[in-house]
Amino acid sequence: MKLEIKNITKNFNNKTAVHNFSMEVQAGECVGLIGPNGAGKSTLIKIISDIIHPSSGAVFLNGKKITDMKKEIGYLPQYPNFFPWMTAFETLMFMGELSGMKKEALKKEIPLLLTKVGLKEDRNARVRTFSGGMKQRLGIAQALLHKPSLIVMDEPVSSLDPIGRREVINIIQAIKKDTTILLSTHILNDAEDICERFVIIKDGQKIEDTKKEALLNKHSRNSILMEITSASLSWLEIVKGLDYVKGAEAVGTTVKIEVDNILVNKNMLLASALENNVDILKFEVDNDTLEEIFLKLVV
Ligand code: ADP
Ligand code: MG
Repeated sequence: MKLEIKNITKNFNNKTAVHNFSMEVQAGECVGLIGPNGAGKSTLIKIISDIIHPSSGAVFLNGKKITDMKKEIGYLPQYPNFFPWMTAFETLMFMGELSGMKKEALKKEIPLLLTKVGLKEDRNARVRTFSGGMKQRLGIAQALLHKPSLIVMDEPVSSLDPIGRREVINIIQAIKKDTTILLSTHILNDAEDICERFVIIKDGQKIEDTKKEALLNKHSRNSILMEITSASLSWLEIVKGLDYVKGAEAVGTTVKIEVDNILVNKNMLLASALENNVDILKFEVDNDTLEEIFLKLVV
């Protein structure tokens, strides 16, 4: 599985929802498409799922145009629509037949899927009685029905309460093991719990494509916070003399040390502390949180 999104632009009348957006997703990845409301996430996801067509650019799966590869993609819309009077089983049967699957295959596949998304006990309950989390899990089952190699989910957890959110995240964690995932969210925390790679979109354009650690490092404040015993505070004079240290100060036994390059210097600093028998109670890189970074990038 390899998904290639190449120079996608989508205009609605005179509004550009997505602008020259490119990215690739490799087999086995779980990618979070993150951006505030109106950033263009749903538009891009619908283009990837071949629900709408781009104004320019193209999407390829395994080198072939997406229109010919629809069977390989499972799509969970932001607002999945079900018939409230149908049961969970009937819903999947109906959707499966609609997408051209054989009844016999469906009868075998649906119970396995309902188990997978934790709805086995509710198979004969009507969707009308389902919680938000249950509906979302049914939507995931529907998206997985034809065994796609890629599942694309539009804000799968954003509208859920904490319990529903946890239920759905657990299911996504489980399907992650054998399906490539692209999901969107406007809540960084959601992506942080599920994905390793973040693609940040703002005003229809890609502004970041990075791994969690790289994002944290890139926005690092290049400083280290340490907690050491008061007997060790004299080490600070040595620290101030190190050529890669830009500044060091202590408030009580909390020491803040600013360095040139956090990636290279943090271990050097730690080595110096050990060499000088500093009694370390705490050693941490003083990073912005992901939430702070996200807000800086998109607001
Ligand atoms: P997101 O999912 O990130 O919230 P959308 O992709 O839904 O963003 O929307 C991106 C922009 O495109 C928004 O400004 C939205 O108003 C506009 N837009 C989306 N769909 C349409 C449409 N069918 N017609 C006109 N404008 C649209
Ligand atoms: Mg949306």
